[in-house]
Amino acid sequence: MRAGFPDFRLGNVLATSFTATLTERRGNAVERIPTPHRLLDWLAVNGLAADSCTTAQFDLARELRESIHAAATAAALHDALPASAVEVINDRSAEGRAAAILTSEGERRWRLGPDSQVEDALGVIAADAIDIIAGERDGRLALCASPTCRAAFFDTSRSRTRRWCDMNTCGNRQKKARFNAGRRERPGSAE
Ligand SMILES: [Zn+2]
Repeated sequence: MRAGFPDFRLGNVLATSFTATLTERRGNAVERIPTPHRLLDWLAVNGLAADSCTTAQFDLARELRESIHAAATAAALHDALPASAVEVINDRSAEGRAAAILTSEGERRWRLGPDSQVEDALGVIAADAIDIIAGERDGRLALCASPTCRAAFFDTSRSRTRRWCDMNTCGNRQKKARFNAGRRERPGSAE
């Protein structure tokens, strides 16, 4: 991947992988798609490779990302969905013209149109967000237990008791924090 940019946090759910391009939202936020080119990198990694991205398309992408974040957060909290976020998600979904393609190996691919490829890709992401927010897929929307994160994630564990958006980052950090707190409580243990 391109040097000098934060790595992507990829999960197995497209819509929440997309919202995870901005992490630590309640702490020192890390923007993982700071440029249009970096958005193209992210789309390519997620099977939605587009040739180019204008500033206007980049703005649409980040607006969609924040709208999905807002709507998914409200859904996880069983709050009313913010109307403006719903409108953005629906607009992007309606504008996209990607086609689902079945490969001879039996896998699904997305075919984007000759033009407006970023809009097509955003349509796929918006439709994925609609699926999980509307409860069309097996799983539960939840918020990450890390106080500096609070990312909305889609819990598909059998028990539906996952606490962190990502075990390798938020989950690990929490465990480490608890471990260090335990050490501090023991007198004489050096930090
Ligand atoms: Zn998290």
